[in-house]
Amino acid sequence: MTEGGAKKVTVVGAGIVGISCALHLQRRGCAVTVVDRLAPGEGASFGNAGVLASGSVVPVPTPGLIGKVPSMLMDPLGPLYLRWSYIPRLIPWLVPYMRNSGADTVARIAGHIAPLLFDSVEQHQALAGGTKAEKWLRGSDYLYLFTEREKFEGDGFNWNLRRRNGAVWETLDDAAIHDLVPGSGSKYRFGVLMKNHGMITDPGRYVKDLADTLIETGGRVVRTEARGFGFGGDGTVRLETTEEPVDADAVVIAAGAWSARLTERLGHRVPLESERGYHVQLEKPSIVPPIPVMMTDGKCVAAPIAGGLRVAGIVEFGGLDAPANPRPLRVLIERVRQLFPGITFEGHREWLGHRPATTDSLPVVGRSPSHPNVFFAFGHHHVGLTGGPKTGRLIAELITGSQPNIDLTPYRVDRFG
Ligand SMILES: Cc1cc2nc3c(=O)[nH]c(=O)nc-3n(C[C@H](O)[C@H](O)[C@H](O)COP(=O)(O)OP(=O)(O)OC[C@H]3O[C@@H](n4cnc5c(N)ncnc54)[C@H](O)[C@@H]3O)c2cc1C
Repeated sequence: MTEGGAKKVTVVGAGIVGISCALHLQRRGCAVTVVDRLAPGEGASFGNAGVLASGSVVPVPTPGLIGKVPSMLMDPLGPLYLRWSYIPRLIPWLVPYMRNSGADTVARIAGHIAPLLFDSVEQHQALAGGTKAEKWLRGSDYLYLFTEREKFEGDGFNWNLRRRNGAVWETLDDAAIHDLVPGSGSKYRFGVLMKNHGMITDPGRYVKDLADTLIETGGRVVRTEARGFGFGGDGTVRLETTEEPVDADAVVIAAGAWSARLTERLGHRVPLESERGYHVQLEKPSIVPPIPVMMTDGKCVAAPIAGGLRVAGIVEFGGLDAPANPRPLRVLIERVRQLFPGITFEGHREWLGHRPATTDSLPVVGRSPSHPNVFFAFGHHHVGLTGGPKTGRLIAELITGSQPNIDLTPYRVDRFG
């Protein structure tokens, strides 16, 4: 406790999830220190597509996916990549991950993702409203593009799940697509416009501005690497770092795709992989879409980000440490040229990031069963920007003794056995 009686809390990880936890804790009277080896917003939270995808409740493994994997891997413009040398390490994670692709399991998972996402714009408004981060937040629809209506209909299982979990949309023919997205070519002839979504127009700067707000109102952000934990007899938790240790009443692990390396030190083995993703940020593009556009065949998003055009997507399995693969980066550029055949730009920047992925596509949110002053907030897969603020609110409620208004059982750390 601080001298004033407030709880001291350390948060490991200054991505959208960690900073959301930190701000909500601070607003509930806690004295918060955030620890990250990088500056805020430099992990996965830096380079995502910026979509507040409140309707994206369907996990990646769905019925029939396994049969499509070989053609996805062979497709020179495909969305899936595998570093073959990584397979032996991947298998223990991949087998249960793919086992979770049955229809009933996927429907159950979607039902547990939905409460973390459905009110994401309001959650971001509550987090960023009145701060300098607010300028990056805006309401937006989210356009899914298909080469033809049949492709959408063939994906009926996923769209039914979205509808059952509250998503609303209208469909567009090719003329309506061209009206909405000037400059788009003739490849995509059917669209689904998801309503009442939102976006963050510069995700990295958004997190940095939120972190500045935390500091301006008395919080601390310390640049160091968390290494382990020590526990005092009075319930305090010491975070061991590469610099000075940090003592607190509670610790939150929000270290994204790296979190399992820390939970292991507490005896919790979480099957967490990196779903490596990429973006290219086009410099001075001649065309920028007004809203985020998902090219469903390439599973990548073209979005108006950082004052230009960012195309982001790809799933690559290859772990946390391997260097970037140039192939998916070329694919993203090719995909944006297919969407906008007349586009010109003056160079581009490339980025690789790590989506934190559990085997059941649900995050880990809640309290450690063995260490009651340690809390978890990680594993948000493709929707961490969307679900970060809600997660932060839930964690702050738990730590300050309020009852969260959703059941946190599906997100328990010990569900993996
Ligand atoms: C290409 C791509 C596109 C995406 N598009 C979207 C999108 O449009 N919408 C959406 O909602 N989501 C999207 N996502 C997913 C989203 O970016 C992630 O789910 C989210 O950023 C995860 O946030 P985080 O705070 O958990 O992790 P991160 O942002 O990765 O933060 C974790 C932090 O922990 C720090 N850390 C780790 N270990 C330690 C340690 N031992 N000590 C100190 N610090 C440590 C890291 O340095 C890092 O800063 C996308 C992801 C990718 C890759």
